[in-house]
Amino acid sequence: MKIVTIIGARPQFIKAAMVSRAIARHNLHHHSKIEEYILHTGQHYDPNMSEIFFTDMQIPLPAWTLSCGHASHGEMTGRMLMEIEKILIREKPDKIIVYGDTNSTLAGALAASKLLIPIVHVEAGLRSFNRTMPEEQNRILTDHLSTLLCCPTFAAIRNLEKEGIQAGVHHVGDVMYDAALTFGALAEKQSAVLSDLNLEDQSFILCTLHRAENTNQQERITAICETLHDIASAACPVIFPLHPRTAVYLKEYGLYDRLLQNPAIRITEPLGYLDICLLEKKASCLLTDSGGMQKEAYFHQTPCITLRDETEWIETVDAGWNQLAGANPESIKEALSAQPERKKIHEYGTGHAAEAIIDLL
Ligand code: UDP
Repeated sequence: MKIVTIIGARPQFIKAAMVSRAIARHNLHHHSKIEEYILHTGQHYDPNMSEIFFTDMQIPLPAWTLSCGHASHGEMTGRMLMEIEKILIREKPDKIIVYGDTNSTLAGALAASKLLIPIVHVEAGLRSFNRTMPEEQNRILTDHLSTLLCCPTFAAIRNLEKEGIQAGVHHVGDVMYDAALTFGALAEKQSAVLSDLNLEDQSFILCTLHRAENTNQQERITAICETLHDIASAACPVIFPLHPRTAVYLKEYGLYDRLLQNPAIRITEPLGYLDICLLEKKASCLLTDSGGMQKEAYFHQTPCITLRDETEWIETVDAGWNQLAGANPESIKEALSAQPERKKIHEYGTGHAAEAIIDLL
């Protein structure tokens, strides 16, 4: 079976890494081989947003790398669509795999669907019910074009059912849980991030921010930065690995220099996966608007405060591991001192979601 995996953004490298590893294991033990060719759209192209994941997670090198990053949503998706279509026509894969909810996901799904190539969507069925999010638009459209919908949660299955999608829908667990188990253990042995950032025997809060609803709205990002200044202290600094987009907006709104000048706030470049895993494990709390990191907080048993008004990962909230605080300083501070009862979440599986996907292929 010939598969083209279409990825282009940081969280997709992490998810695809686990499926590529499962494909390699499958090929070791089975006569019917799966040939996987990776198509990197170039949506994320900075070395520490892309290349570092291929190295850290030993992802097979892309067969094709496009240069479709750094453009408006329409232009980026359009350019990807044109280039992906050419490759799919030439390569004639049996199936394509797309991940999550970025422009690369949608462009891959659109290109394949017009060529009648079956589409496997990993992380299908997630909904924030906020149609203004580009990610929500990408998810809905991709799910409606997909043939095999691999859902990480039961809520995802229910969401698809409500939209009339039942055929090809499977609960497989979460490939990001697979990744957290595999690389979380490795991070303890290999990552030097705690000593590099002088965090050994030190409490700290880990913060990441990149969603357009925060970065592109000056009021929200300003309120979040003010809150970081209020809560960061010498006893508990805030570690803030900066997404390239966020850096642009912080500078544009004049917020960047004050963050740099605060010794209790440590801005870093985006980190590799092993380093971020270790920080997630050791942090007293995560403040984030990332989708993936809300779950990783739970995987590593660290409480999370989500800087959004809604989440696709509602089970993390229901189980007490995640609190939604939006960009509201009071809600963020209240969440920091809250001690909700925290329960186990079973639906992310047992760390074998990637194998379940291969079985379905
Ligand atoms: N991540 C990383 N380095 C960082 C920040 C995040 O490796 O400096 C990882 C994080 O652990 C998670 C993924 O990137 O696995 C999440 O990506 P992102 O927040 O960009 O996207 P989202 O999950 O919101 O789609």
